[in-house]
Amino acid sequence: MDIALCQNPNHDSQRLKYICVDPNCNVAKRIGCADCFLDDHITHIRKTTAQFKEQVSQSIDTISQVEFSKANSSPQKDLDCQIDFELENCIENIKSRFLAIKNDLKSQIDSDMLKVQDNCSQFKQNMNNELNPFKLTIENELPSLNQYELNQLVKFYQEAPKIHKHYSKASELLQDEKSKVKQKKQKHLNKMKSIIQVLLKEFNDLMTTKNVQIDDCSEYETPQKYTMSPNKMINLVETARSTRRFPMSQSQKKYFLSAVTKKLD
Ligand SMILES: [Zn+2]
Ligand SMILES: [Zn+2]
Repeated sequence: MDIALCQNPNHDSQRLKYICVDPNCNVAKRIGCADCFLDDHITHIRKTTAQFKEQVSQSIDTISQVEFSKANSSPQKDLDCQIDFELENCIENIKSRFLAIKNDLKSQIDSDMLKVQDNCSQFKQNMNNELNPFKLTIENELPSLNQYELNQLVKFYQEAPKIHKHYSKASELLQDEKSKVKQKKQKHLNKMKSIIQVLLKEFNDLMTTKNVQIDDCSEYETPQKYTMSPNKMINLVETARSTRRFPMSQSQKKYFLSAVTKKLD
């Protein structure tokens, strides 16, 4: 017996060629040969078996192509990337501004310090030039010195307190210069600290205002999607399914709930 042929003894074993797809059809036997359709489905909407198979396959393909993964994964990832980018940018900007200020300050302080050091060396040099001749002549027996050398030593003896005062004063002045440079450095450091404090305060103020609070979803295209609880979502799916008489089984429901809950976390 060929199951592809009509078993009705009056239908000459014709091929079972048609399927009735009429929504109003009450005939139990939906597949049949040309004579079956003349007898039972005369005004009904029909498809050939080949057409029917083709269209069901197409429907399966089309429905299978509905994407769920995109809606779930990408916006969150985009958000991560964008926040990372903005944050990186912001930190980089602030950092480079502070580095620039620091480098300016450093080179200015370096050059101030260098000037002080130069002056120190200059005074030390002058002092050596002035004292060295006397270091040599005072080593000798005084009677062996000539008139000029002796006069110079006497003159030095008389002026020694004045010379000492002169260099002591110079040394004090240079010490003052050094501490002025240090004060300047401290002043700039304090200024930087207060700039940072102002920045942080501004930042905190901005963060606590409603600027960064999550708005209601009025600007989204489908607001209900964002406020939907897992249970609401299950109900929505259930409603859609029940209208097509394919209700979700308990295990399916459990699986779906855990999947949705996981996504929302
Ligand atoms: Zn037939
Ligand atoms: Zn029919």
